[in-house]
Parts: sequence; structure tokens; C-alpha cells
Amino acid sequence: MSSKVYFGSARQARLEASETLPAKLDLIIERLHLRERVKDELVAIKIHSGGGIGYSTIHPVFLRRVVSAIKEGGGQPFVTDVNWDVGDAQTRGYTVETLGCPIYPIAGPKDQYYYSHHRPYKNIQDWKVAGMIQDASFMVNFAHIKGHPSCGFGGAIKNLALGCMIGETRSAIHDTCHFEPYWFGELCPDMATRQKIRESCPHGALVDDRLHPGELHLHPEQCNQCMRCMKVAPAGSLNINRAIFDAFQEACAISASVTLSTFAPGKITYLSLATHMTPVCDCFGFTSMPILRDAGIFGSDDIIAIEQAVLDVTGQSPLIEENLPTSMEVHTREGHPFRWLHGPFKDPYTAVIFGEQLGMGTREYELEDVLPVEEHTFAATGFYIPAKQ
Ligand code: SF4
Repeated sequence: MSSKVYFGSARQARLEASETLPAKLDLIIERLHLRERVKDELVAIKIHSGGGIGYSTIHPVFLRRVVSAIKEGGGQPFVTDVNWDVGDAQTRGYTVETLGCPIYPIAGPKDQYYYSHHRPYKNIQDWKVAGMIQDASFMVNFAHIKGHPSCGFGGAIKNLALGCMIGETRSAIHDTCHFEPYWFGELCPDMATRQKIRESCPHGALVDDRLHPGELHLHPEQCNQCMRCMKVAPAGSLNINRAIFDAFQEACAISASVTLSTFAPGKITYLSLATHMTPVCDCFGFTSMPILRDAGIFGSDDIIAIEQAVLDVTGQSPLIEENLPTSMEVHTREGHPFRWLHGPFKDPYTAVIFGEQLGMGTREYELEDVLPVEEHTFAATGFYIPAKQ
């Protein structure tokens, strides 16, 4: 059975406010029956408030509309994100005054307020869900869509997986990439060759291992799987393979499912804003040029369906290669443009597939455009009409 995903295109037919994204968000809020569902609920609105001087995160204009709808429905909203991003969120326009509700550090100001959930996966035994999330009785997971150096793409799953855990668990999720060995130093005893392997990487992804000097350590975020290093490394000594990168995506799916398990059925809804999509995560502390065309805004009660729909729709945009930072290279042009950008083993669909396997939702969806863009055609005049005589 498919899930419904509501969609408002970033395009408009007329130059009227009623055809723009905040107005389409209102229509999606109505379709999701948000007001009717939040009476007496403590509602966490999970966002990524970005960092530093970033300006491409979800604008307060959108959040204010969600906050107002929740209040109108008799709910008690608060906006939340990890402690260090909330700490200076006011510099990016997120304040009580602009949002209309408080903005709280998700696990307290010291990142020490959490609930532990035992679920072994590779290096992780316990998943530490942020206290403000588990204390909430309803959640609006409002994600900004962008690229991500670990998994190709950041959306609804990542907003939960990394954003609703304390820092210790976030670090452990990143470390899952190192659980299976990829460097077999005994097959490359020559230090000069090891140095050549390190130098073969143009992205600085292979470095000296801090804990075991002389050995190689991979920074998966910087690796775009160009495989230059594999041509230099002696046979069997280095193994850059898909499992390294899939581990992060599987951990993200598990992490998100742990957070979902703290809510009663029907007590979470999802919004995703696919505008100003940058190459990397909003946590980088800056905004670079958009690398995909603005797609629009999405809403659903199914996290897997909304992720699948977002990827399918954004995947119709070409990668705007002239907007890429010059240090990024494209060496594959297959699959989603986020995959072009971050490499073939960082397929953004992977976490969605893992999530479906965990029973979090379905990749089958029905996309309902809440305000289809009317196409205008203009009859050819066959002659030139000057604007002014
Ligand atoms: S595959 Fe390419 S980007 Fe990755 S570590 Fe090797 S050389 Fe660097």
C-alpha cells in the first residue's frame, strides 16, 4: 500500500503570494490535519538550525506558520536542535520573537539530557535519544534538503538520526564506517609506499592514523571513491568498498527508527523543504551556491515515502556543475545528482531502503500536488510589439 506525499512546487504561474512556498506549506499543513492532531500535545519541531553564517536553512517565515498552526490546534510547540547550533541560532534569525515559541537545545545546554535505548549495531550498543525529543508527545520533523558528505544527502532521516541523538551517539554513528577493516598494513610494509598512497588522494581523505602512526586512516566524508589510491596501493592492502559507506546509512536508519519508537503511532509528521540545496550539510557553518534547482516543499506522515519522493523529484534536476566549489570533482554521472557529487558508494537512496527494511514506512507513494502550476502558453504574434511606442 502506498503512502500519500503532499507537494508544493517552488514554481509559480502568477506573481502572487498565494502561489509561493509559504502559502503551499499552509495547504500541506491542512492536508496533514496538523491542527486537529495536536490538541494538548507537547510538540517538538525538529529543525537543523545550521551553524555560523549559514543562511540556507529553513527560514523563520516557514517555521512561524507551523508554530501558529500548532497553537491554533491547542498544542504547545517548541523548536529544537542540537545544543551548539541552538546556542547561536539567534544570529541566523531564530528567536522566540520570530518563531513564536521557545527554541531549546535538544539534549539540554550541556548535551547530557537523554534516554538510552539498547540496540546493538557494530560499534554502538546504546542509542542516546535527546531528552527534549523523548519528552515530547508529538513531533514535526521539518528537514532542509541538502547534500551530505557522509551519505550524499541530508533529509528527514538524517534530521532524526543525527539531530535527535546526543553528540556521543552522533560520533559513534560516524565511526560505524571504521568498524570493518579497510587497511591491511601487513600487505604494505614499505613506509614510502604508504606515503605515496596518502599522497595519491587529491581530497585529503587518507591520512596518518592518529592512534597508530604510520598506518592509514580514511576520512569517509572526504572520499568520493575516485579510486586513485587503489591504483597505488599494493594488492589487498587497501579496500575502499561500498560497505564502508553503507554502514553510516544503515546506522542512520536504525537511529531514526529508535527515535520513532519513542512516539505513539500517528504522533509524528514530516515536512521537507527542498530549496537552496547546497553540496554539504547545514552544520558546516556557511552557505555555498545551490547545486540543484529548487524543487519545493513536501509533507507526509511516512518518513520513507517523503524521502523517496524528495529524492525522485530533486533527481529530475541536473547537477548545476558551474555552482560547485572548484575543489569538488564529478567522476560519475549515474543515479541521483547527489551521488554524482559525493561518489557512487554514497547513494542517497541507501538509507531509505534500509529504513523500509526496518518497517519505518514504504517507498511506494502517491504524490499530490497541492497547487499545480498552471502552464501558460502565448500565441505567437509573428511580429514584434515594442513595450513602449
Ligand atoms: S578513493 Fe579517491 S577520494 Fe577516496 S581515499 Fe582513495 S583517492 Fe581519496
